[in-house]
Amino acid sequence: MVVMTSSFPLNSGFREKIQGSSARERGRTNKLSSEFAIYVHIPFCMRKCPYCDFVSRTVDRSQRFQYLEALSHEIANSPWHDSRAGTLFVGGGTPSELTGDEIEKVAEALSTTFSFAPDAEWTIECNPGTVSPPSCDRLLELGFNRVSIGVQSFDDRQLTRLGRIHSSQDAIETYQLFRDAGFENINLDLIFGVPGQTSEEWLSDLETAIHLHPEHLSLYSLTIEPGTEFGRLRDQGLLELADQDLMGDMYEVAMDTTDRAGYQHYEISNFSLPGFECEHSFFYWSNSWYLGFGIAAASYVGGRRWTSTDNWEEYLRGAAKGSVPKASEERLEPRKAMAEEAILRLRTSSGIVASELSDKYACDFDESFGDSVDFLTQHGLLDLTDSSIRLTRKGKLLFTEVWAEFLRAEP
Ligand code: SF4
Repeated sequence: MVVMTSSFPLNSGFREKIQGSSARERGRTNKLSSEFAIYVHIPFCMRKCPYCDFVSRTVDRSQRFQYLEALSHEIANSPWHDSRAGTLFVGGGTPSELTGDEIEKVAEALSTTFSFAPDAEWTIECNPGTVSPPSCDRLLELGFNRVSIGVQSFDDRQLTRLGRIHSSQDAIETYQLFRDAGFENINLDLIFGVPGQTSEEWLSDLETAIHLHPEHLSLYSLTIEPGTEFGRLRDQGLLELADQDLMGDMYEVAMDTTDRAGYQHYEISNFSLPGFECEHSFFYWSNSWYLGFGIAAASYVGGRRWTSTDNWEEYLRGAAKGSVPKASEERLEPRKAMAEEAILRLRTSSGIVASELSDKYACDFDESFGDSVDFLTQHGLLDLTDSSIRLTRKGKLLFTEVWAEFLRAEP
């Protein structure tokens, strides 16, 4: 796990003030036995991007108010109140569209319901052009110590193709605003494989990002999801997509360029300076517990996984009554949970320790997946040592094949 190198006095002050009063007032406990991650979904965007299948929409002032009321109610009524959370991630949507008072309402609901370590990682997603110097200061005061900026590209032509509402210059200015405010842990999201994009243009995006010196980079290939505008255009033959060879070239450019600049490739899509890996994501990658709040948010506790409704009205009504309807729910059998954790852990540079998985799930990992591991190792996709199983460079490039093999072997 990550050791955070920075702490923010304002951050801990806000939390201690709020948490102190909450514990006294409530005097009740129903705690989870281990730390967990909290995700809060803010489903507002100024405009829908044509590739996006996240649950997000444009809203007016009163819908925004209703949602935040419902969200605060849902958080305050969590059956796991007073439990200790390890990290917070406020994502969307565009959380940076919220005013300082609106974000404070959410932060206060969280801090009165759960406890957090004073230096717990608190991340908020922001889109370029949606923040100002006072709003950056306010986020720091409220306890956010990490920001993830949805840059996607530093090339205005790519941004137009992606339907983004901001320019490259907006992204650079937004980054600088957070730096000037004192944020010491900033992630930039970038997308490669945009229709018409060349490897040289992608390299230029990476070089611009690295020149800014963010602590973290999340680099994703464009995927075309059904039901999106890009999905419709593809189905009509109107979208010319990058082929797999070009995608592979771009991914190799990403690995090599970030490596030369001192970034560690610690997960398939994630690169960080030493000590700045995303703590929140490790809860997902290690199949640890997480609680999601907001419309369509996913949770996983004690082997049970569920997703809240993605219906706006249902969510508002349910949250107001203290019980949000579920869109899906399943209990993971130990072998299935082990398979999922194996795939998630393989994405990380630490890989799998087979004996740890066998012990955790009381199932023999080798019995279930030994043949698959041998097969993938023989084909150069996995590196098998006495202590661990990890992806090779070829395995990273062909991760969907590795995933498919593990799914095939899943009991
Ligand atoms: S800003 Fe992000 S969440 Fe909103 S529509 Fe675009 S990609 Fe989706």
